[in-house]
Amino acid sequence: MPNKRRQFSVGLVSLGCAKNAVDLQVMAGALLTEGIALSSNPDRADCILVNTCAFIEAARQEANDEILRACDLKRSGKARFVVVTGCLPQRYGASLAAKYPEVDGWLGIDHLFDLPALLRSLSAPDRPKSVASRLVGAVLQTAPSTAAAPAAAPVLVSTARDTLFEPPVPDFTITGGVHAFLKVADGCNHACAYCAIPAIRGHLRSRRPRDILAEARALVRSGIRELDVVAQDVTAYGRDLRDGTSLASLLTSLDRIRGDFWLRLLYGYPSLISDELLSVMASARHVCRYIDLPLQHSHPEMLRAMRRADTVRHIGSIVGRLRAAVPGIALRTTFIVGFPGETEAHFEHLLDFVRASEFDQLGVFTFSPEEGTPAAKMDGTVAPEMAELRRSRLMEAQQEIVERRLASMAGIRARVLVEQVDGDRAVARAEFQAPDVDGATLIANPPASLRPGDFAEVEITGHEGYDLVAKLSGGTAVKRR
Ligand code: SF4
Repeated sequence: MPNKRRQFSVGLVSLGCAKNAVDLQVMAGALLTEGIALSSNPDRADCILVNTCAFIEAARQEANDEILRACDLKRSGKARFVVVTGCLPQRYGASLAAKYPEVDGWLGIDHLFDLPALLRSLSAPDRPKSVASRLVGAVLQTAPSTAAAPAAAPVLVSTARDTLFEPPVPDFTITGGVHAFLKVADGCNHACAYCAIPAIRGHLRSRRPRDILAEARALVRSGIRELDVVAQDVTAYGRDLRDGTSLASLLTSLDRIRGDFWLRLLYGYPSLISDELLSVMASARHVCRYIDLPLQHSHPEMLRAMRRADTVRHIGSIVGRLRAAVPGIALRTTFIVGFPGETEAHFEHLLDFVRASEFDQLGVFTFSPEEGTPAAKMDGTVAPEMAELRRSRLMEAQQEIVERRLASMAGIRARVLVEQVDGDRAVARAEFQAPDVDGATLIANPPASLRPGDFAEVEITGHEGYDLVAKLSGGTAVKRR
């Protein structure tokens, strides 16, 4: 066990999506429970913990850079240990140990709670025997010894991918701000042709509603003002529980929690949007009129090729259906261009769809062939330059929509959640602006009384880039934590 009096500390490096950030939060909570300190500066910690993403090549490259940076710190004597967790070891297992001999331990997604034991073992004088004896039941892969690291680092990677961690009562959030991610499930039962996530994270596992509710209550009590509901596919929530639990029923229960807070849905799946869910979204007090719904393409042939055929019959009506059922709803979506077999006609279909749909927020990715996925072996490769060109054309079309939309908002009033107050400017978000991915609402000359976590009424006065500019309007309703 690291000596608490020496303030052994772990510095966290968070990579990847919101779901991954929640995993890091779970590990951080486990460390705090064991009395192990967290360092806000990974460069000055005894142990650097890199929680990785391995979804696409760009994510793996980022993980590689961070691992090498941590190893440099260890070589220079600034850090004693480097531990790597998450999707990268889950996907590549023991093969990583030879590539990064300075890394002291690897934990896959089923082993997050083994982190404190691993740290104890690392700092024990009889390492690695101690590691092996403590964790032998879980070690499914053994890293090969190398000249640089004769004592092989433990690699704890389970092929089961069936663990669903219940975080302890949260007294710590990875976001560190006024919003927190509420992970309701892990894994995914879809089989999109381009996606490695089901192979990495396993099948759908939904948390029990009572555990989610307990976590949500504790977060609201602690001052969190926005709960961002996340999973690989939030709309599939509850299906595996087979007791009638659904996202609609969960939201209904979450909406009954006392307090002033927002609930926001991220990562939905088009064909699983039920009328019941829309009805809850339209009537709930706390649920933002906002959904992030990755559609990936509009053309039926492309959707079938992507193995999202179940969305074909929804694609033409989904935008109108959402806007009719939840008036004022903000829609965020993502598309993939350059998928194998995508012709100019398919792309033009998508371009027309984007122009007609006028999404509030849009992300566009170029196809990345992921090893082990069906799409990686498909014919009809689109040249990377062509895919990039299509991405630019789609983003240009969206840019015009965004410009029009933002300009038309001048003069409207909105309720915003204040995130930061920085002298002559406050950064806030309206319900149509999700944290991290969408623009913000900037309030000029905020009063000294305005604090992060306050809700306030503003009048939009203009925009700067993707951000709205606003002033506090009369009758500001400020809620204190
Ligand atoms: S819904 Fe499709 S893209 Fe999303 S995680 Fe599941 S398989 Fe991957």
